[in-house]
Amino acid sequence: MAKVKKVYGIDLGTTYSCISIMDEHDKAIVLKNADGERITPSVVYFEEDGSGQVNIDVGMSAKNYAEMYPNDVVSYIKRQMGTDYEFEHKGQSYRAEEISALILKKLVKDAELTTGEIVEDVVITVPAYFGVNEREATKKAGEIAGLNVIDLINEPTAAALSYGITKQSDKRILVYDLGGGTFDVTLIDVSSEAIDVIVTGGDHNLGGKNWDDAIVEYLVDQYKEQTGDFTEDILMNPETAQSLQSSAEVAKKTLSAPKRFKAPITFSHNFDRVRVELTREKLDEVTSHLLERTIELTKLMLEDAKLKGPGKDQFDEIILVGGSTRMLQVKERLVEEFGMEPIMFDPDEAVAKGAALYGMQKSVQEWVSNKIGAKYGQGIGASQIQDVMPKLTQVEKEEILHEAATYFRLTPQRVESMANQTIRNVTSKSFGVVAHVVENGRDVERVVNLIKKNDTLPCKYSQIFGTYEGNQVNAKIQVMENEMLDEVLEKDYAMVIGDALLDLPFGLPENSPIEVTYNLNEDGTLEVTAVEVTEKGTVQVTVQTNSVINEEDKEKAILKIQDFVLN
Ligand code: AMP
Repeated sequence: MAKVKKVYGIDLGTTYSCISIMDEHDKAIVLKNADGERITPSVVYFEEDGSGQVNIDVGMSAKNYAEMYPNDVVSYIKRQMGTDYEFEHKGQSYRAEEISALILKKLVKDAELTTGEIVEDVVITVPAYFGVNEREATKKAGEIAGLNVIDLINEPTAAALSYGITKQSDKRILVYDLGGGTFDVTLIDVSSEAIDVIVTGGDHNLGGKNWDDAIVEYLVDQYKEQTGDFTEDILMNPETAQSLQSSAEVAKKTLSAPKRFKAPITFSHNFDRVRVELTREKLDEVTSHLLERTIELTKLMLEDAKLKGPGKDQFDEIILVGGSTRMLQVKERLVEEFGMEPIMFDPDEAVAKGAALYGMQKSVQEWVSNKIGAKYGQGIGASQIQDVMPKLTQVEKEEILHEAATYFRLTPQRVESMANQTIRNVTSKSFGVVAHVVENGRDVERVVNLIKKNDTLPCKYSQIFGTYEGNQVNAKIQVMENEMLDEVLEKDYAMVIGDALLDLPFGLPENSPIEVTYNLNEDGTLEVTAVEVTEKGTVQVTVQTNSVINEEDKEKAILKIQDFVLN
């Protein structure tokens, strides 16, 4: 019998990453790394031995080098995805996609050692809050690592998927996901038929790292007080900065144990040794603004939910995801705000496991839809299975389900529920185009939103704009991403994510119609088309920016990192 194509789920986290696979009992399991750990620090250490050979360490060993050789170590690279950041090292520069690719390579290498199988197909998770560029960059990172990225899935959706299979009844859940670098908050309807995201919100620069930074700030103040040296910025010293960062994270974790009220911290700088006892109260005090921000963002997300319909902001459960939800302050504050006890559900692994589950589900859906297509005429897409299945006879249906069950080593019931479950996502961003509008009698350039944040995916919107003047040679289509719900907004609130020129036929009068269409796919990729309506000149806008590695550089990156020795 043909071997079942395995799809691995990868949680490519800001601070830690994790890889998962469905086992033979239809259960998502996390694969341990070479150190025997289930999660791997997303930290990369570059060692150049003088001969030009680059050795790479990823994970705990790299994290351990961070204090000793801070300039050779890269952490928190996820925060740079979709930007034009470059890490400079010994005359070479590395983009965020390349560094993320090294983390992926390490996860895959260790997984292959454990399973004895080659990892090819993967689903990678991304924060719901990621925009078009960050998603594209994540996909490219997978490709640079030599992987076939069959899809990206939003982290809260993946968590809901793992959570959903353990539950029978239909529920609306609020997923509060506070990781190392990002905060995502999402409202999701979970049932056996569908995982339906209603709204999503958050901040991709808010996570455990900010808590660590706040503790570091407090430690710096303590240094000043204890030594009387108020002038030196001790964080300018990379070794001291790294050491404080590590101590802060350890102390924060220590204080997450229910009966721990104090954590001792000692550190040295310029022969001064400083001792601090960080209390829980102090920790809560110096980080309260961060916790409050998560509550504020949660309330804003619930306000957005109200716009989707009456009662849409009501939920049955709060699910905690992400390592930082282990902080006791999180649970306490949520109880105070919402009067319900949040459920701590597999915070480190739910996301990777959900991705593996989603990968399996996609394989099953692809198989079933191909089978239906092959047996009964024209092909159907996976999203049509729900419509087509009821039209089959009982015998036809059972035949397909049994065949699939044998192939995937699942029960026919399980195949049926996987094949029939739809996942509907929403966009976390709005997308608009720059146009001239008249405001208070003045002609001004503004962003006109075509797709609005929290629209259900896939979605497609068109709008007609007029040329600005007579005999215009071309029209510039500027694609703008933003987080506003307004129809029209100032350009400062949006970010350019791509542009293109539509060449216009000669002699068009002023205000000739141009139709702009935005098509946002299920995987979050945006297709933009502009048509000059009178003569039907069309331009397909490829959203190409220098904040994502281009195809040519991607090919070079594949070759570049192939030569590295990955420890
Ligand atoms: P994630 O991105 O979900 O892997 O979350 C990683 C973040 O969770 C890091 O900032 C860690 O410092 C934090 N974290 C992990 N365990 C704990 C803990 N026991 N208490 C507090 N924070 C933790």
